[in-house]
Amino acid sequence: MLNRKSMRFAAALLAALASFVAAPNAALAAAPQHHDQVPGFYRLKVGDLEVTALYDGTGVFDPHWLNGAKATMDGVAKALQEDPHMLDVADTGFLVNTGKQRILVDAGAGTWWGGGAMGRLAGSLRSAGYTPEEVDIVLVTHLHSDHVGGLTTQDGKRVFPNADVYVAKAESDFWLSPQIAAKAPKDAQPFFQSAQAIAAPYIKAGKWHTFSGSEPIVDGMQLVPLPGHTPGHTGYEFSSKGQKILFWGDIVHALRVQLPHPEVTAIFDIDQTAAAATRLQLLPRLASEDVLIAGPHMNFPALGRLRKEGSGYSWAPVVFTDQWDKNANGRF
Ligand SMILES: [Zn+2]
Repeated sequence: MLNRKSMRFAAALLAALASFVAAPNAALAAAPQHHDQVPGFYRLKVGDLEVTALYDGTGVFDPHWLNGAKATMDGVAKALQEDPHMLDVADTGFLVNTGKQRILVDAGAGTWWGGGAMGRLAGSLRSAGYTPEEVDIVLVTHLHSDHVGGLTTQDGKRVFPNADVYVAKAESDFWLSPQIAAKAPKDAQPFFQSAQAIAAPYIKAGKWHTFSGSEPIVDGMQLVPLPGHTPGHTGYEFSSKGQKILFWGDIVHALRVQLPHPEVTAIFDIDQTAAAATRLQLLPRLASEDVLIAGPHMNFPALGRLRKEGSGYSWAPVVFTDQWDKNANGRF
């Protein structure tokens, strides 16, 4: 039985225990942390164009998805041990407001890719002051679901109900062909299925358009065929007042590997040889001309320029400024 003294001792012990248990919470309450991030958009001006990068999400590229010479890939494996974030990638779409039209270039993954780390593009668009209904045109670099998933909901509704979607005929014909899909390996089936489901409501609404040459779609925009990654993989190069921006789709997936080693391909490249040849042909021009690059998988805001470095290239990302009109193609 407890006497008064032992009861006092027990009470003191309990109080001491309680304060010990409570201590970590008390420390947190003194300096509460904030977990909200900035909205997922970044704007800059290219001539008269307003270009807004729209964050869709992040992912990690698997080293086994890359194909290169043994020595190169051994180097990648070693570098990854020292820097586990070396293959972190982003997914990004871009809105170009020409003053006349609002043009989305690639639409992010929506709910069609991975475990929920992507699919934020529509929210980023709203944060940037636009609604999906206001998008007039969507230019699609290719029909992989991390670039077009954001176009359509899982129950087959158009996310951009007023937009006309443009894609290369070779791309549309490939991914939407039941005959090609039937002959494709099992691993590739999800790509065909998602492309068909994503395109279906736009086709039904008469909003799915293909191009096969250099026909004009938007004033001041040129089609840049970049075949290899997929059969109709296409870049879109906009010019305004002597400034240029190229939306290059999947010319580079893993910038820390494929810029120093442009010959390294990805297993998602349908034609590995053509993909490498296209990259090796394009990069020298971009490094020598002052072309701004919008690369969906480069670190957000996925805008930057190429610099020649040794036998390869390095990435010079745009530098953050809150004065978007002074960042005209990086010149103050
Ligand atoms: Zn991609």
